[in-house]
Amino acid sequence: MEHKYTGIVLGKKDIGEADRLYTFYTLEQGKVKAIARGVRKSQAKLAGHLENFCLVDFTVMKNRGMGNIASAIVEENFSNIRNDFNVLNNIFGVFSDFDRLIDDEEEDKANFSLLWSYLDALNKNIEKHEILTQGFLFKLFGSLGYGISSQCCVHCQEKITDGENYFDYQLSGISCAGCAKHLSNKTIITSNTIKLVRIFACNQMNSLVKLNVSEKDINDLRRLSGNFMKWLD
Ligand SMILES: [Zn+2]
Repeated sequence: MEHKYTGIVLGKKDIGEADRLYTFYTLEQGKVKAIARGVRKSQAKLAGHLENFCLVDFTVMKNRGMGNIASAIVEENFSNIRNDFNVLNNIFGVFSDFDRLIDDEEEDKANFSLLWSYLDALNKNIEKHEILTQGFLFKLFGSLGYGISSQCCVHCQEKITDGENYFDYQLSGISCAGCAKHLSNKTIITSNTIKLVRIFACNQMNSLVKLNVSEKDINDLRRLSGNFMKWLD
């Protein structure tokens, strides 16, 4: 049976003599894996259409188990991303996190559109890749049901004010200093980080390019998203 998809190439892995296993994030069925037979032979045309991060229209022939990729056409290759080694490396990491956090074959149009808008915003504003990547990760947490509660303390419900506050991993939210005293899974969180987490939650990817943030803010965000990701694993 033939299945048609629109998807973003999340990753690939060589298997057998000349085959390759691809992982896509598709509009129709979420994460989909399929094999391209003979794709590593020099005359294979398919390989050029299946580069990492490309948005492709592809078809899979499938009966039972994993299917074979029959055709693929690149719709968008986000070429600016490919010219910057640092950015590429960064996105490889983000894509492997994304792959790990997401289950196979669960349709989620909001997630697809988030991933697509991340690549699109990056491609148009490559110099903003740090803030876009952090924005994407925090929006992804929200989309996966781990949205960070940041207005009120997750324990006493008092409004969060500037000053000493903590991130509570267990409840995925901000805790005031008083309530955080007894917590074991916590990290101190700056007022700037809280502000940025709020901005991420209520803005689209392409609006985040307007943000001007310091290197310290980026590092704080990176530490928090990294730790939260480890905790979710
Ligand atoms: Zn509290």
